Amino acid sequence: MKNFAYEKAADAQSALQLLARHHNARLLGGGTNLVDLMRENIEQPDALIDVSGLPLDRIEASADGGLVIGAAMKNTAVALDRVVRERYPLLAQAILFGASGQIRNMATVAGNLMQRTRCLYFYDGAAACNKREPGSGCDAIDGFNRMHAILGASAHCIATHPSDMCVALAALDAMVNVLGPDGERSVPLVDFHRLPGDTPHIETELRPDELITRIAIPPLPFARHSLYRKVRDRASYAFALVSVAAAIEVEDGKVKNVRLALGGVAHKPWRAFEAERTLVGAAADTESFTRAAEAELAPAQGLAHNAFKIELAKRTIVGVLGELADRA
Ligand code: SF4
Repeated sequence: MKNFAYEKAADAQSALQLLARHHNARLLGGGTNLVDLMRENIEQPDALIDVSGLPLDRIEASADGGLVIGAAMKNTAVALDRVVRERYPLLAQAILFGASGQIRNMATVAGNLMQRTRCLYFYDGAAACNKREPGSGCDAIDGFNRMHAILGASAHCIATHPSDMCVALAALDAMVNVLGPDGERSVPLVDFHRLPGDTPHIETELRPDELITRIAIPPLPFARHSLYRKVRDRASYAFALVSVAAAIEVEDGKVKNVRLALGGVAHKPWRAFEAERTLVGAAADTESFTRAAEAELAPAQGLAHNAFKIELAKRTIVGVLGELADRA
């Protein structure tokens, strides 16, 4: 591991000042992904700015009736929060499906957003990887690509985003609040992560001199009836082949409102806007759910080892929506 400077920020403003002072710095939350990457020399920062102690570690009610979650909160604390469990159960479920108990106890909310892909070739210094070394190629495209993207991929990268929590946040219309030298700004979570295009090494809209401060979730009363389902190769401590986060409101047998997002299928948490458009006003039945799943997955493309995920995603969507509709 390369030598690096270590600084601990007392508050958000001092974190920004430290970011400005150090060249090639990274922000350190729980370190559950970044430290691994540094050990492998995939990340080689000159400085770590420790933001794990910032006073951004609580959940508060927002004026509009939603919630504001501090960026330094531990993942476990969010999942166990009573209000989160009651009003946004899909978020609590998604977090508890991620990683292990020990990792969730260390990992922060902001770190969850900023974690890097788990593409095996990204972690293998001997492999070609445009994300690790722009312009070097992508060994996953003709390699073992069982875990890789079926939506929104490019000829430069087919990696998937590994987070479960972010899939739930995408379904909930969450906003990412960031602080930079010019003040605060908010980015919709669905726009915060980028598709790979020809710059897969640029993964988010966060600028190098900015800090994530909070995640704002709007009020969404029907999210009390929501569900996160994760399909994976083993029952715990595995990344999603496909996951579905959904909330649905049914009135007189028809879909009045729906939020749907997919994980494990793209370079970013994938909000299923096409499926949502298909569903609103349709009968809340298997036929409509199947039509919506078909519409969402119509542009999907499979490779040698991951084509099965297209059908898996469709069936998981239909299963989750069916279960929620039955409950409604
Ligand atoms: Fe690298 Fe992306 Fe290709 Fe994986 S899929 S090897 S992360 S460029």
